Amino acid sequence: MLLSCVDPRTQTPIATWMNAPAAGSHAIGLDGKYSQFTVAGAAVGIVAPAFAGWEATFWDNIGASIQLHGITALIAVDHGNCGALGIAYGQRVLDDPKLELAAHLADAKRLKEELAVRHPDLDYQAWFVDRDSNGWFNQWKTLVAGPEIN
Ligand SMILES: [Zn+2]
Repeated sequence: MLLSCVDPRTQTPIATWMNAPAAGSHAIGLDGKYSQFTVAGAAVGIVAPAFAGWEATFWDNIGASIQLHGITALIAVDHGNCGALGIAYGQRVLDDPKLELAAHLADAKRLKEELAVRHPDLDYQAWFVDRDSNGWFNQWKTLVAGPEIN
């Protein structure tokens, strides 16, 4: 299952990345093979205290996706210049690339810990996609490495 943000700018880049093999993530294109949960902030939206009310829906949903679709892995994709990060931790964090990346990394790790408690059988990987100099979301960084999907 893909966990990603509601930001309109990221929808096509993330779908394109999911649908083709991506080194370190999936060895096959996943078009038509993945469930999706979309919420402002992606991993930040699930674990940040500012969005505490959203967490229960995510965990209920992942339970349903396991039951209905037999999902075996969660791929979290956070992104650069995410407004939800600013809401959760302040504009100062969003405006500083080092603090921004550190906050996404911390929340991606926290999500891994929470997933390990609830669904220890699920694989997990977390990514951060940022913009290039032209504003395209195509700069992928691993936040939390996990088993490659194939
Ligand atoms: Zn976002």
